[in-house]
Amino acid sequence: MVRTHALGFPRFGAHRELKQAVERFWKGDLSADELLQAGKSIRAAHWQLQRQAGVDLVAANDFSYYDHVLDASAMLGVVPKRFGAELRDGRSVTLDDYFRMARGRSQAKSGSAAAADVQPCEMTKWFDTNYHYIVPELEESQTFRLASTKVLDETAEALQLGYQVKPVLLGPLTYLWLSKPCGAEFDRLSLLPRVLPVYEEVLRKLDARAEWVQLDEPILVLDLPPAWRAAFSDAYRHLDSVKRGHKILLATYFGAIDQNLDTVAGMPVDGLHVDVVRAPQQLSEVDAALPAHQVLSLGVVDGRNVWRTDLQAVLTAIEPVRARRGERLWLAPSCSLLHAPVDLSLETALDAELRSWLAFSVQKLEEVVVLSRALTHGREAVAAPLEENAQAVALRCKSPRTCNPQVRARLDGVTDAMKARPGPYAERRQAQRESLRLPLLPTTTIGSFPQTAEIRAARRQFRAGKITRQQYVEAMRGEIERVVKRQTELGLDVLVHGEPERNDMVEYFGELLDGFAFTQHGWVQSYGSRGVKPPIIYGDVSRPAAMTVEWSRFAQSLTDRPMKGMLTGPVTVLQWSFVRDDQPRAHTAFQIALALRDEVADLERAGIRVIQIDEPALREGVPLKVRERDAYLQWAVDAFRLAAGVAANATQIHTHMCYAEFNDIIEAIAALDADAISIESSRSRMELLEVFQRFEYPNEIGPGVYDIHSPRVPSVEEITALVRAAARYIPAERLWINPDCGLKTRGWPEVNQALTNMVTVAKQMREEL
Ligand code: GLN
Ligand code: ZN
Repeated sequence: MVRTHALGFPRFGAHRELKQAVERFWKGDLSADELLQAGKSIRAAHWQLQRQAGVDLVAANDFSYYDHVLDASAMLGVVPKRFGAELRDGRSVTLDDYFRMARGRSQAKSGSAAAADVQPCEMTKWFDTNYHYIVPELEESQTFRLASTKVLDETAEALQLGYQVKPVLLGPLTYLWLSKPCGAEFDRLSLLPRVLPVYEEVLRKLDARAEWVQLDEPILVLDLPPAWRAAFSDAYRHLDSVKRGHKILLATYFGAIDQNLDTVAGMPVDGLHVDVVRAPQQLSEVDAALPAHQVLSLGVVDGRNVWRTDLQAVLTAIEPVRARRGERLWLAPSCSLLHAPVDLSLETALDAELRSWLAFSVQKLEEVVVLSRALTHGREAVAAPLEENAQAVALRCKSPRTCNPQVRARLDGVTDAMKARPGPYAERRQAQRESLRLPLLPTTTIGSFPQTAEIRAARRQFRAGKITRQQYVEAMRGEIERVVKRQTELGLDVLVHGEPERNDMVEYFGELLDGFAFTQHGWVQSYGSRGVKPPIIYGDVSRPAAMTVEWSRFAQSLTDRPMKGMLTGPVTVLQWSFVRDDQPRAHTAFQIALALRDEVADLERAGIRVIQIDEPALREGVPLKVRERDAYLQWAVDAFRLAAGVAANATQIHTHMCYAEFNDIIEAIAALDADAISIESSRSRMELLEVFQRFEYPNEIGPGVYDIHSPRVPSVEEITALVRAAARYIPAERLWINPDCGLKTRGWPEVNQALTNMVTVAKQMREEL
């Protein structure tokens, strides 16, 4: 028999039950007991779904009230001092400690002194996914001890319900790798000997009926420094020597093990999981390298995307492994299903053809089970599902809906000249000065203004058919008028229309482009209780009609000042969608770029002289493997340039990115050749401009001077200090003054005050300089 298992299942619940329970608990509408009860029934429901799909081993401890890395911190007793929760006398990490680390505050009703707000732990992206984890903060003198029995309890719970269960833990090395030093730098690896005893204790205390324990070490697919690689052998040799009865499945995912394979193959673990969706080439390598007595678990179904697997193709690839390895071959999705929606059967609004191409978590597990039966009993034993799968795969491949010959012909005709503006930056700068007549230190905002309750209500009513399109357009125009008037009163130089018509910066464009589909329940966790519902790009992308021109034209008609057109860039649309897997990502990005290029041209024709193409996701698309980075940056930059290249010299192209790590991509940012870039920088006190200076970044920069992530209003003095700091790195002639990011999550009172201060500073500094 070929065993099947899941590395992890989505946590939210198909109807986002967990999100609701957690948020109600935060508001004080649910007691801690009620929250725990809700968690328990969600876990039970998810195990039930896994069993129904026919999976042999269900996962435990993949569930989390917020984040699995935070769970690992709780397990290890890692609570930074500022949370005032010294874990003396064997005290456990409480639910309150846990949520305070995540959110910086206690649940609404607790009034104790310890409940005061503190800076929450930092959050950052989990490898190259859109999931964010809570970064562990460790000190050089950090001690660890078992301070949460969650993994033991949830394993017991599954056993109690009669499941064959495999508890999942974040491995010790990946945990340390993902952490950051709290205070002075030190070698995090030096903490390993102190972390291991806690893992040891967990292994000792875990119920022996849980035969297998999964330790996730996804850093094994990174280019690891030799010391870390060496530490793996030692750590796992130690765990192997102390474990009693359990077997360890070492899980890797998101790429090939590559140069870490020698290390991995020599480790005394009982099994290894590898991702052969992202890295199919490693199948034979790993199979050859792994000793015959070890279990090889193959991740053959894509845990990160929504497409059905070509089951026959997978079988052809893995049948030889089965012949060699026999019972020691296991099958699973490539990674935890955390990154996939729950259940396709809820998608009743998708048309049948499109639905037949898709698989969500439940369906992915069913695919794994069919594959296992085919290997165990022969393909004939599952002839019907294999046949049905083959038909769906073939239909998708042939469907005219995935292929638009015009789009393909246009893509083939893209030339290098199309990826460049007509003139170099110096020439464009001159032309733009004459056309825009902006003062020194021009002021602007990043695009969105507060999404008020009225705006959201109008959108809801329109979607529900309660108001007509005309009424909706009137409501949005009214909002645009208010926002333009406000910006004029504030004295901003380059205005925006405020984006009231956009619910989400990717969804808005996806809905207006061909080749995109939307789900009703296709949520995936982004962080904590937040989810996103990415669009599905299933076909060639084209633009049936202009997408933003009418709004921008209307906004421009209200003012003589330049009105900035606002587009979402090709890489960001790609990164925040489920992307088709039947052509290279670069091709899809170029198709989106061509559609945006037409939009740029149309905006220009409508009299728009400044156009911003947001690319906040450019950085997160950077591959995990160093050797893949250049190729990505090349096509990502090209896609942006293809969209922007059509603009005349006198049209000013802006871009915007909201993250803080530019060091390794500064050349790519310069290569975008945007006339101006706005970046998030107020929290770093402008230090990140250092890299722009070092690189002699040639074009204009608007480093954010107002941290829009907080309701706090920056004072005139603070903003002045920030602008002065910025001017130490970048000559004032190339500086813009703007907030860090869009204002849509803020309230009007603080926005008014902050922008008033921002404009005051710009005016004062112009006098001074
Ligand atoms: N233009 C968008 C806005 O202002 C940019 C958002 C973003 O960078 N995430 O909301
Ligand atoms: Zn931003």
